[in-house]
Amino acid sequence: MSIQLEAPTPRRGRPPRHLADLDEQGRRAAVAELGLPAFRADQLSRHYFGRLTSDSAAMTDLPTDVRAALSDALLPQLLEPERTLTCDDGATRKTVWRLFDGALVESVLMRYPQRTTICVSSQAGCGMACPFCATGQAGLTRNMSTGEIVEQVVRGARAAADGDLAGGPARLGNVVFMGMGEPLANYPAVLGAVRRLTDAAPGGLGLSQRHVTVSTVGLVPAIERMLDEQLQVTLAVSLHAPDDELRDTLVPINTRWKVDEVLDAAWRYAATTGRRISIEYALIRDINDQADRAHALGALLRDRLVHVNVIPLNPTPGSEWDASPKPVEREFVRRVNEQGVACTVRDTRGQEIAAACGQLAAER
Ligand code: SAH
Repeated sequence: MSIQLEAPTPRRGRPPRHLADLDEQGRRAAVAELGLPAFRADQLSRHYFGRLTSDSAAMTDLPTDVRAALSDALLPQLLEPERTLTCDDGATRKTVWRLFDGALVESVLMRYPQRTTICVSSQAGCGMACPFCATGQAGLTRNMSTGEIVEQVVRGARAAADGDLAGGPARLGNVVFMGMGEPLANYPAVLGAVRRLTDAAPGGLGLSQRHVTVSTVGLVPAIERMLDEQLQVTLAVSLHAPDDELRDTLVPINTRWKVDEVLDAAWRYAATTGRRISIEYALIRDINDQADRAHALGALLRDRLVHVNVIPLNPTPGSEWDASPKPVEREFVRRVNEQGVACTVRDTRGQEIAAACGQLAAER
């Protein structure tokens, strides 16, 4: 499996243009193209971002012919649900979506006592080829559009509001870019999605940037690009090893940007934003769970604005690797903590429906 930084040229064109692809100005221009006044764009945004509806029949403040014109031009169906699976007594719900060209992606909605979170995909497949991740095994099909990324959140927010998760209606407040794909390899579309998600309603979904997390293998130039965006989103870095020798094998892009370079970029992000960096560490039995690696990890992160999330390895098809035994995991966390570095084990959800970290393969 080799790394694919660029998406292959799509064979079947680009996804249709959607309201969510456009910023406020773009929406007004699109409405003007239809020969309609600019305020129609705001009305449409209120329905889509404010009321989470794409159903033109419900847009009763718009004349019937205007509804049809707007919905044909700006609300194409981007995601078709292919399959929905639930677990945790209905608190976790994975949807496999079919995109316009037949590509499949997945998103996972999770209800916790204090919050509801959606994990979204940013690419169909992934080009990063991490050997322990199911998404990485099939390679990259294509980048997703801003509209396709945002639609996952809008559909999830609507499902949560409709009470589709156990416990009754809930407000979706958190988004993590931890589904399929490497978000920073699809930078413009992901940034556009972050804007749409966090722009004030009704111009956007009005989520707090602090409740959005972008997770990356560590594409240094893209992290540097993020420094200029005046963001408050949380940056998560998939480290998985404190040393280049091991990380070269677990996260192949490490052969291009080394541990030191990735962490340097992360510290600059922390300094610019004041936001704590999340370090993800999938703990793999006898591979990266040794006491000396825990010590090296703690030493590397000491005195930094950082939190380590240990993720017990989720099984993936065809891989012989598995999670570390619990005592080894506890000792690993203890040794990182010992150096004053915050480190906790992620409450991983959805293993039995292949919805957990690294299990999203969108198999037919
Ligand atoms: N490409 C981005 C976004 C994916 S986030 C990134 O790598 O950060 C998914 C997280 O789950 C990443 O930290 C990834 O390394 C981790 N992961 C992948 N496969 C896993 C597995 N089998 N078990 C546990 N975590 C895994």
